[in-house]
Amino acid sequence: MDIEKAELMLNIFIYVFAFLFGITIGSFLNVCILRLPRGESLITNNSHCMTCGAQIKRYDLIPVFSWLILRGKCRNCGAPISPRYMLVEAMTGFLFVGVFAKYPPMDFGLYPVLLCLFICGLIVLCFQDIDNREMVVSVLVYTCIIAVVTRVLGYLSTAGLLPVSCLLPEESIKSALIGMVSVSGVLFIFGFIITPLFYDAFVDENKKELRMLKKQLRAAEKGSPDAKKLNDKISSLTEKINKEEPVYGFGMGDIILMAAGGLMFGVKATVTAAFIAVICAAVYGVYRRIVSDDEDNAFAFGPFLIVGLVIVAFIGNTLADAWLSTLYIDR
Ligand SMILES: [Zn+2]
Repeated sequence: MDIEKAELMLNIFIYVFAFLFGITIGSFLNVCILRLPRGESLITNNSHCMTCGAQIKRYDLIPVFSWLILRGKCRNCGAPISPRYMLVEAMTGFLFVGVFAKYPPMDFGLYPVLLCLFICGLIVLCFQDIDNREMVVSVLVYTCIIAVVTRVLGYLSTAGLLPVSCLLPEESIKSALIGMVSVSGVLFIFGFIITPLFYDAFVDENKKELRMLKKQLRAAEKGSPDAKKLNDKISSLTEKINKEEPVYGFGMGDIILMAAGGLMFGVKATVTAAFIAVICAAVYGVYRRIVSDDEDNAFAFGPFLIVGLVIVAFIGNTLADAWLSTLYIDR
């Protein structure tokens, strides 16, 4: 009985510590989300009110709690402070608690720590993509490095070459390597081959016109004034087309992100994450169409992939296995 009590106390201690540590890290993640895309320093403390510019005092920089105590208003001018800062901090805290509850360090060794580091990268990429429709390269590289380190430590741990354990839920290196290319490969083919080809063939007016002009040129007599005129038109149109930004279905960021996710979680979990992302993005796309008349229906896909990855960080292969088991016919 006493041992159970001690275990419970230890768990509560771990969860409280994980939460407090998580919200502190979350506060740093807010800084990364805001400053990395602008190339600003992460270390200097120049947090200031977005409205009046007053420097925020150190005692008002306590994660989550400061925002709650000040009721989301600047101490100096009373302007509302976006609840997003507080939400990112709280989210990081709860995700850390979730990771340590799902993967207790006593059983999984270093894995929960590595998973928290990985999730930090995902949180930063998610909000950067929402804000700028772009993920910062250094953060993408960071998530890839964490995934590689996790795999290496996991391998060394199962080989008995590590003084501490590092047990990965998906231990198979093969699954990790296939996972690395499964979703990212599909995104690459769709994003960089199929979408641009489709766009050129059916959407781009300039390219349609260029094809028509070339056809006319072939029909025109060589050296005739008509042919010369067509040639001029073609060269000016080609110049115009070369200045256009190429159209890609997915960014390179999404592809690198899913490669890192695949390496971290293995093939089944990563494919599950992609399915979750596609379903959520489809629902969101329909919702956007209904609510706004915005013609531009393009939106960042990265945050949906990240939601998928965070979900599979907790459920692992269970959803994929449940679905696969329905494919076998009961006899
Ligand atoms: Zn202010």
